[in-house]
Amino acid sequence: MARYTGPVCRLCRREGTKLYLKGDRCYTDKCALNRRNYAPGQHGQSRSKLTNHGVQLREKQKVRRYYGVLEGQFKQYYEMASKQPGVTGENFLKLLESRIDNVVYRLGLATSRAEARQLVVHGHFSINGKRVNVPSILISVGDVIEIIEKSRSSAKFKELVENHKSSVPQWLSVDPENMQGRVIAEPSREDIELPIEEHLIVEWYSK
Ligand code: SF4
Repeated sequence: MARYTGPVCRLCRREGTKLYLKGDRCYTDKCALNRRNYAPGQHGQSRSKLTNHGVQLREKQKVRRYYGVLEGQFKQYYEMASKQPGVTGENFLKLLESRIDNVVYRLGLATSRAEARQLVVHGHFSINGKRVNVPSILISVGDVIEIIEKSRSSAKFKELVENHKSSVPQWLSVDPENMQGRVIAEPSREDIELPIEEHLIVEWYSK
């Protein structure tokens, strides 16, 4: 299945919430949701009430778009989560949070998840000293994520480090000057900022 390449602000407008897909712009008045907080399309301003099925679908799509994951892989995470001990919905979100592209973004080493994915695909990061280029790799506690030596002098990373806002989630630590981050704990449900009703996604997939 092809990745969505259209205007990403439409996705936020479709889901009716900020998905933070455009980096710094999302935090400014230029955010499309500030100006047009209704669904895109001809009937966007006159949407009728959703059915239960529709509510579940929208929740699934919202989270899938937030993490930038394609449908097939998203479903695989659900299946992995349902086989793990504990609460399936929480396991599911933890798996999504543990993707290396999300971790790079959460460490502040990219301005959006989409940018993080691209930087990982282009091989700019290593995990525990080993260069990686697959954005779906799941990190573990103790892993060290670094910008590879060759990429450190690039203008892109220099700018990112200079503008780094040092606050990261509790389960991560970051050392921007050394272009390095560490996973110090498993991600917890409370660390996920987007309001998510994961039980709706579980209901969707358990039909
Ligand atoms: Fe979404 Fe960011 Fe576009 Fe706002 S600016 S609509 S948060 S992608």
